[in-house]
This record gives sequence, C-alpha cells and structure tokens, in this order.
Amino acid sequence: MMSDGERVPRHATSGLEQSIDRRSLLVGTGLTAMAAVSASVAGAAPGFVERLLRERFAELSPERKAEILDRLEQEYSERYGREVSVEDTPALDGVEFAYGLDIARCVGCRRCVYACVHENNQSRDPQIHWIRVLRMEKERGIDFTESTAYYEPPEVPEPDAFYLPVACQQCRNPACVKVCPVKATWQDPDGIVVIDYDWCIGCRCCMSACPYGARHFNWSEPKIPSQEINPRTHYLGNRPRPRGVVEKCTFCLHRTRKGRYPACVEICPVGARKFGNLLDKESEMYYLLREKRVFVLKEELNTQPRFYYFYAT
Ligand code: SF4
Ligand code: SF4
Repeated sequence: MMSDGERVPRHATSGLEQSIDRRSLLVGTGLTAMAAVSASVAGAAPGFVERLLRERFAELSPERKAEILDRLEQEYSERYGREVSVEDTPALDGVEFAYGLDIARCVGCRRCVYACVHENNQSRDPQIHWIRVLRMEKERGIDFTESTAYYEPPEVPEPDAFYLPVACQQCRNPACVKVCPVKATWQDPDGIVVIDYDWCIGCRCCMSACPYGARHFNWSEPKIPSQEINPRTHYLGNRPRPRGVVEKCTFCLHRTRKGRYPACVEICPVGARKFGNLLDKESEMYYLLREKRVFVLKEELNTQPRFYYFYAT
C-alpha cells in the first residue's frame, strides 16, 4: 500500500520511470530524488527524460507538441487495445463559450453525469464525476449545506425537490488558476479553464481554492474498461489521466471547438441544458442572457462564472 508521500507509478516504460517522476521531484523528497535521477538518467527511457525536463505543453513548439501527441497516442492505443487519437485543437477566434441551465426543467435523472463520464473518460473505479446533480428541498430553496448528490428515490422528479447540477463554472476570474504553484492550469481564450495533466504536481491547491467543488483528484490509478474508452481525445481535455493529478469539466472542448454541443447538452431528455458562443448574437446563450433573468452561483465571491442558471417561466 502506498502512502501519499511515496512515488506515483506512471506509464510502464522503464524501471526508473516507474519509481520516480516529476511529481515526486517537486512534492516529495526533492534532493534525494534529484540525486537518484542524476545517477540513473543516462540509462533511462527517452520518454521519461522528456517528461521530466520538458516545458509546459502550452509553451512548446508545434514540432515538439506533435512528438508528444504521437507518443501519447501510441501509449494509449497500446493500453486500451484500440486506436486512440490525441488532438490539441486550440480555442477559435471570436468565441467565448458559456453554459445555461434551466432549473425549472431539470428532473434530476443524472443522464448528464453518466454521458459526461463516458465522453470524457472519467475513472469508473474509483468513480469520478465531473458533474454533480444536487438535490435540494423546494421548501428551503438553494441551500448547499442541506443538499445532497446521493439521492435514490424510486422515481424522479420528486414532488418536494428540485435539482441543481454543478460542474466547473469556467470562471472569468478563476480562483483555481491563481493558486497553482506550477502554472499547470490556465484559462484559454475561449474561456475554458484547462489543466496540463503532465505538468500538474497533484498538490490540490486548486481544489481548495475552487468554491464549487468542481475539481477532482485521482487518488488511485483511474480505471476505464477498454471497450468503453472514448478514443477521440484532447490533450487538455478527455485523454486518460494518470494517478495523482487533478481533473474537471472542460465544456467538452474536444467537441465544442469543432462546433458540436457538449455531451451533457445532447443527452438531456428535457432540454434543460443550453450552450453557445456569447460573442455570437445568433447564439442560444446570447439570447438567454438578453431575454431571461439569470443568476450565477456564489456571486459574492467575484469568480464571475460563465455558467448561468435560470428559470424558464
Ligand atoms: S469553477 Fe472552480 S475549477 Fe472551475 S474555473 Fe471556477 S474556480 Fe476554477
Ligand atoms: S493540483 Fe491543481 S494547483 Fe496543484 S499543480 Fe495540479 S493543477 Fe496546479
């Protein structure tokens, strides 16, 4: 059994790589680990040295990015026994994504939760859910302290309850980004807050900073059955994550940057979920913000979410 302070085994390539990685250098016993690397780096696999010494993905040349994406595609394809692609589609010019959720329509069925799990390759064991649907009492109104994501009634919706789905709010002023000590997380120009999983050291500062509980930590090696892997992935999104890093919703950037809806929007059986480009005057979200009374969660914290809730009355 490993403790937190021990090394996190990564992709099985070399003995050295299994025993030490960048994360253990930065958060573990740094000097000892560095000495171990110095002594052994000459015999290490090229992939290991590259991961240890390379810059953040966002700062690499296009050629180096292509090499890294190729390596990851090969690694994932071998691991899951099918062809897995890893893209790095950038944010499009003139796009600022935003999300809308109609509380009056949501029936609490949690189909969005499981569509998201499948689309974004979230671990099945232990389970990670980027979306949590909170059950709230109608009588109390929005009250996070009395809400629960663990409800199992015979059927939904329940007459005395309403449901508030919560995921990353893609804040304009993201508390999580400010606290990351290694700049492993940042906001892209389309407003999506992303994480470089190969750069994250797993310190979990961002989880503490996020007021919405939107970030999740991989305490164990994530497990995804080979037959259920979504093979179309993005480097900053739904590619398989290693143990010891943080992850969260990315507005399905691998889909939305190509003009598709997020998986949760497509699956919602009652049309409670809306999505679009705020800079496009023809978009659903532009209309929503102009015509409806919307609100954001924990407005007083000045995080400035791009996730708007409304009641379609
Ligand atoms: S909801 Fe949390 S994780 Fe998402 S941008 Fe805001 S602070 Fe960051
Ligand atoms: S856990 Fe969060 S704050 Fe820490 S390195 Fe990873 S992204 Fe940054």
